[in-house]
Amino acid sequence: MLSHSLPRTSLGFFPTPVVELKRLSNQLKGPRIFVKRDDQTGLALGGNKTRKLEYLVADALQQGCDTLVTAGAPQSNHCRQTAAAAALMGLDCYLVLGGEATNKINGNLLLDQLLGANIHWSGEQRKGEQIPQIINALTEQGKKPYVIPYGGSNAIGAAAFVFAGEELYLQQRHLDIEFDHIVFASSSGGTHAGLTVGKSLLQLNTQIIGIGIDKGEVGDLPYTTYLTQLSNETHALVSQEQGHYTESDFILNTHYQGAGYGVVGDLEREVIQLVAQTEGILLDPVYTGRAMGALIDMIRNKQFDQQETVLFWHTGGAPALFDYAAELI
Ligand SMILES: *Cc1c(COP(=O)(O)O)cnc(C)c1O
Repeated sequence: MLSHSLPRTSLGFFPTPVVELKRLSNQLKGPRIFVKRDDQTGLALGGNKTRKLEYLVADALQQGCDTLVTAGAPQSNHCRQTAAAAALMGLDCYLVLGGEATNKINGNLLLDQLLGANIHWSGEQRKGEQIPQIINALTEQGKKPYVIPYGGSNAIGAAAFVFAGEELYLQQRHLDIEFDHIVFASSSGGTHAGLTVGKSLLQLNTQIIGIGIDKGEVGDLPYTTYLTQLSNETHALVSQEQGHYTESDFILNTHYQGAGYGVVGDLEREVIQLVAQTEGILLDPVYTGRAMGALIDMIRNKQFDQQETVLFWHTGGAPALFDYAAELI
């Protein structure tokens, strides 16, 4: 077992279930496929950010903060789960959302408002560029704001996915299987870095395959350089020892980015319908639809051995389906 002393606040229901997708595997005539149901973390419709927030919010409380501030796209699942975490812990919440104020209030944006978040529209800048101004204004009002980075992806947030890797490892042993590959949507990096560090600390052979969702860079860094730094920081935070990750430790498949972030194409539409209709599981239009589309395409192209076992990490996001109704059917 990994030992650590990071404070944690309970925000969701863990462990999340692992289930086999037998009908989908049969239909594809491919490897056995399992799914880790982090869409069922239980915090206001769930998702992978619940895990990160358990550690980030604990840090905010330890620092005596009373207000959570974060940023994202209008349909950000991270922002919605942050708003729910704030409500649950009696904190104020400010969300800095890319775009302009809109009357089309749907999906996550509807939930943000039901959860009582204050929304600041930031035009073209959807990655929190305007947060410093908001922090100044809140501080002048006598508030103690705590900034949660884009996607909750700093070492504290990513640490949650080191422990999620351990959670899966224990479930694997219980089920008496070993996953050869774990496939998931990789975007702000906390999931990818955390699972990679977990694999290293637990000395697992599982291949960690991130499907790139968002083109490009984080700040000034290429995404894999950023993943390397984040993993080194996360390793040090969790184990008190230096991490020595290099870019070659990361598998990032960037072949499925279609027309860009948040744009639904045939890949996403077809796979969302396929998985809904064969397994009764809802994927999302931005992340898991694309990542599962990639996995199914790789299976069809025989990139996995028939004897192997693949785990798809379902990171959530289904509330955004409603905002994409016109593109999905
Ligand atoms: C944020 C998010 C991801 C990406 O996770 P990162 O840790 O930011 O890379 C994947 N899927 C969904 C549904 C998300 O909301």
